[in-house]
Amino acid sequence: MNVEARKRALVHFYTKVVTPLGYKFTPDEELKDFLLEQEVGLEQKHGVPFCPCQPITGERAHDMTLVCPCIPFHRAHYDYMKRCWCGLFVRQDVTDPDSLPQIPLSEVPRG
Ligand code: SF4
Repeated sequence: MNVEARKRALVHFYTKVVTPLGYKFTPDEELKDFLLEQEVGLEQKHGVPFCPCQPITGERAHDMTLVCPCIPFHRAHYDYMKRCWCGLFVRQDVTDPDSLPQIPLSEVPRG
């Protein structure tokens, strides 16, 4: 499939998934486009759009938690950061994604 067409299809599908979770695409259009391009490549290689920022291990149960959008599997962590690990998605109230660093899970307070 044409890469640009597939990116548009992913945007359509992902929007439906992440909106009810309180997330939106990052307003950083360059980052968004870059990450989507990576995902289309991963999908062509593996059959599913794996996360471009997290290594897959070959252990299926684990790797399926890294299929985009992986927010439901990492909800407390991403809610705390107000972004997903890659930064493709941010919480809906975020306007300045550059102000949100990645925070390792080990540094997230346990509620
Ligand atoms: S960290 Fe973000 S871009 Fe990566 S799979 Fe999860 S939701 Fe997608």
